[in-house]
Amino acid sequence: MTQSRIMMGTVVDMRVYGKSAEKAMEQAYAKIQEIENRMSVNLEGSEISQINKAAGLNPVKVSTETIAVLQKAIEFAQLTNGAFDPTIGPLVSAWGISTDHPRVPTVIEIDYLTDLINWQDVEIKAEENQVSLARPGMAIDLGAIAKGYAADEAVAVLRANGVESAFVNLGGNVYVIGAKPDNSPWRIGIRDPFAQEANSFVGVISATDTSVVTSGTYERYFVKNGVTYHHILDPKTGYPAESDLASVTIISPESIVADAVSTSTFLIGKEAGKALIESLPNVEAVLVDKDRNVWVSSGIRNQFEIAEGFALDETR
Ligand code: ADP
Ligand code: MG
Repeated sequence: MTQSRIMMGTVVDMRVYGKSAEKAMEQAYAKIQEIENRMSVNLEGSEISQINKAAGLNPVKVSTETIAVLQKAIEFAQLTNGAFDPTIGPLVSAWGISTDHPRVPTVIEIDYLTDLINWQDVEIKAEENQVSLARPGMAIDLGAIAKGYAADEAVAVLRANGVESAFVNLGGNVYVIGAKPDNSPWRIGIRDPFAQEANSFVGVISATDTSVVTSGTYERYFVKNGVTYHHILDPKTGYPAESDLASVTIISPESIVADAVSTSTFLIGKEAGKALIESLPNVEAVLVDKDRNVWVSSGIRNQFEIAEGFALDETR
């Protein structure tokens, strides 16, 4: 059974097999909607919007799941020395990322806004489920991690309903349950970041029971006066991050980790990214650099088939 719905600012596809497919899918979509209602910056009443409105004023009580996702984001802010930063909100708004009217902010705006970005100014009182932002104007944005969390939760709902084979895709954030109904592994194509067409690939991963998440500059961007501006921002400069990577794909049974690591690796670049990936348990990767070299982590090499026109980078 297959369905497609617009949620979390993207297309959420589910292909679910088995007797309970219909009911399971309905519940999984409902769970994603609940997460969006809590964590979206685009919904007035969401928990994240409430935290943002109270910035510099008072703490806000939120759900345990919002606290957990925020804590995971802060963990990656620490691991990347602040390259990944969930308080990126003011810059995301100024650039109009993912809106119908993106724009290049003025230098003065950028200068002012970069001062507002600092994950260390998020205070979490986990026992009371309270979050506060130290300074007015600060804002949390969980866009780099919330879809991964939603994928994990949707998959948990499907599994709790007895589903043993499924393919879930939240706008490029993929999770596969079990194998395909014919028992062969799922095959997930990694998009060629240099190609205009969406059906051109760097290679294919064969996988079961895992998440496959890609971050790249071709997903969301706009062009102004011949310059391309993408949606992953450098908190230090206030501009789209300049990376030596064209795309980062992370494979992990925890989609929240895959989502955080893919954005983080893009931000910190190839060498630091490899070190981050190798330091984390159950995290594998396919990195495509700007010179079309494809680096595949050791744990996934025999599940990856490279496409013609790309060179395998054999260094460890
Ligand atoms: P996508 O949403 O296209 O799957 P990512 O998971 O890489 O891509 O997340 C990009 C989103 O993360 C941006 O649209 C923005 O909301 C947010 N973001 C941008 N820059 C940063 C950053 N430096 N740290 C944390 N989040 C960021
Ligand atoms: Mg991400």
